[in-house]
Amino acid sequence: MNKRVISLIACLCFVISFTVISAQTGEPKQQPKRIAIKAGRLIDTKTGAVTNNAFILIEGDKITAAGPGVTVPAEVEVIDLKDKTVAPGLIDCHTHMTFQPGNYYDDIFRKSPIDVAVIAHVYARRTLEAGFTTVRDVGAGEFIDVALRNAINRGDVVGPRMQVATLTVGATGGHGDTNGFSPYLKFGSFSGLADGVDEIRKLIRFEVKYGADLIKMLATAGVLSEEESVGAPQFSQEEMNAIVEEAKMWGKRVAAHAHGAEGIKRAVRAGVTSIEHGSLIDDEGIKMMKERGTYLVADIYNDDYIIAEFSKLGYPDKIIEKERMVGRTQRENFQKAARAGVKLAFGTDAGVYPHGWNAKQFAHMVKWGLTPTQAIQAATVNAADLLGWNDRVGVIAPGAFADVIAVDGDPLKDVTELERVKFVMKGGVVYKPTK
Ligand SMILES: [Zn+2]
Repeated sequence: MNKRVISLIACLCFVISFTVISAQTGEPKQQPKRIAIKAGRLIDTKTGAVTNNAFILIEGDKITAAGPGVTVPAEVEVIDLKDKTVAPGLIDCHTHMTFQPGNYYDDIFRKSPIDVAVIAHVYARRTLEAGFTTVRDVGAGEFIDVALRNAINRGDVVGPRMQVATLTVGATGGHGDTNGFSPYLKFGSFSGLADGVDEIRKLIRFEVKYGADLIKMLATAGVLSEEESVGAPQFSQEEMNAIVEEAKMWGKRVAAHAHGAEGIKRAVRAGVTSIEHGSLIDDEGIKMMKERGTYLVADIYNDDYIIAEFSKLGYPDKIIEKERMVGRTQRENFQKAARAGVKLAFGTDAGVYPHGWNAKQFAHMVKWGLTPTQAIQAATVNAADLLGWNDRVGVIAPGAFADVIAVDGDPLKDVTELERVKFVMKGGVVYKPTK
């Protein structure tokens, strides 16, 4: 028996005896803290209805009651948001919490994963303070996302609830590879590259072993990399089927980065839960997604930022050109998919633009066809459904986590109110109090 096993057993013995002693002393269990929120206007994200003068009753990290008829016991502390509109904490289903672009060449050659790891918690806090209490992180190097998620869950650093994908699963020479440099240039990092069914299965097992909550597949080429095409498929149908089948075996969902029409359809056929980007989707792809209930997570804000800023950061022209090619088409196709009734979840590719600006996408979703209510539902109930967490986030209802935000005006009339979140609570703890 090795040393680590022995010390683990010693720890377990300690825990068992400690529990017995405390049971013998008969000390009363500490009651979870009770708080109430008085909401001037409360958005029901399931129905889109708004109720006035409602109360939310919270015990520990969960909501126990919500609505206009709720009575608040006299001894319970009340947070007064009577002049605010209150909603559940927002959810961004496409973030890269560990990354934010600086100079292109510095990022590649002068920084290491340790630089990334050191700064990631700053981005996590910014995201939470912007009202995003849950994120799905779809790609990070070196399992930094796992470490960040765990540190947040332990309460060591401040940030949103996270589901993490770890390394993106991609093909050699594809969107996840480092392209455009000498073949002699090697980075000593974990590789998310896998070719063929056997390598794919092994990589997914490796990711699950070290903490992946979901699997992110790179089904097609991409924009922010130096390979030639934006839309070409980068895995065969057989490979994509293997990714989804292997992930399912471990109880994991698959998100597919996919711009091109053929890659989107292969990924949908393979059974992914969501298509990310979806820029060049065709009518057949839209029909397939609708039929199968595949979510579209379209990052339709960041095009503005990339076009305005990425040249200054030293990104190669060919990358900026690719963005110009797909930016508008992606928005038009988002509108088409929305009209056709494809399920939509809010995802922004945060980390491509500065963290904390996530809510800027709401205005674009409204401009391209959604009502403000639908845009908010994409970032609450729909997002929660995509994450498989609809029992705990995206709603203000008994049993859900006490993740609550508030804004001054009415976001159902002016959705940009969500860019100015004035109050944030996560799990019953206030991280941004009203001034
Ligand atoms: Zn992304």
